[in-house]
Amino acid sequence: MNSIKKLYAIFILFLMMSIATIGCSSIKNENSSATEITHEQKVSIVTPEVNEKGTVVILATGGTIAGAGEEGKETGYNPGSLSIEQIIKTVPGIDRIANIKVIQVCNINSDDITSSIWVELAKKINELSKNENISGFVITHGTDTMEETAYFLNMVVKTNKPVVLTGAMRPATAISADGPGNLYQAVCVASSTKSVNKGVLVVFSNYIYSARSVKKSNTNNVMAISAGETGSIGVIRNDEVVYYEQPIKKHTLETEFDVENVSTLPNVQIIYFAVDSDSNLLRYAAAHSDGLVIAGAGAGEFSKSFIETINELKIPIVISSRINEGIITQDSVLCENTVAANNLSPQKAAILLRLSIMNKTTSKDELIRIFSTY
Ligand code: ASP
Repeated sequence: MNSIKKLYAIFILFLMMSIATIGCSSIKNENSSATEITHEQKVSIVTPEVNEKGTVVILATGGTIAGAGEEGKETGYNPGSLSIEQIIKTVPGIDRIANIKVIQVCNINSDDITSSIWVELAKKINELSKNENISGFVITHGTDTMEETAYFLNMVVKTNKPVVLTGAMRPATAISADGPGNLYQAVCVASSTKSVNKGVLVVFSNYIYSARSVKKSNTNNVMAISAGETGSIGVIRNDEVVYYEQPIKKHTLETEFDVENVSTLPNVQIIYFAVDSDSNLLRYAAAHSDGLVIAGAGAGEFSKSFIETINELKIPIVISSRINEGIITQDSVLCENTVAANNLSPQKAAILLRLSIMNKTTSKDELIRIFSTY
């Protein structure tokens, strides 16, 4: 009887040791600049839609989500102060959702993002996405230019795996900092199989937005990210990711833009039109850039002096609007040598024009095709 009890005890001990071994996982570090995070994987409470075997790579770039300042205050902080390892420590349960691997790409205010950082991000994602253990990517980013980075990546990453940008409106040291919740939700979206083939996404305050339509629409509110008339494409509640829409404009694997052989993008400047704007600015900008975008009034309109000057210019010119919503059609542009931006904001039209110039597709007809395709 005693030996049966002993055998039973040994069996139970063996079982517990096996469970403990299975329950502890660590991430294999394939990239020298990546930081390894070892954590306990509580498989039993991972929701069914999440890819349990997947790893989510967080590429950190800075912004308010990494901001620190006077305790409790929302303003007067320094963006890009905390490392991604420090930020992750403030997100309880993130390791339940996926294995996390982090890469600190930079730690800056997003107003200092450059096209060389964009290209670096795209190349890293393209390279890492070949690893079948990686199920998705999260990019932590300042909100000021998040929509631009998202749209650029939407045009150039060559993967259908989820690529999700997120950030925060309040620094990590503020009361009710929104960064930890946004990062948690971004990891949920990046690790969900439902997010495959949706193009690059932005996750913010419970909503999922497509890169093409997302915009910053408030200077200080935690609901600062929206998508105007097109709206969000899905929501997140707890760990559950729910989609209502599918982006239909071409993106990622379907585009003609490949940045593997470049390190930066051509220079396109944006000129903002208002009453009494000096059209000499157009001449100056044209002399110092490869293409121009005009943020016109209304449906891309401007003064007679702007029209005369634009007619003289010999570089590709795209007409967008300073208005937040609405489309500009090719038959409404005021100058024959210009291309309508469709409903792209000036900053997104500038990205598409930069990529077109990179590809040397600069004739008016080619640009009309590109601006109706993407
Ligand atoms: N200036 C900050 C940035 O874009 C704002 C933010 O992250 O919300 O980096």
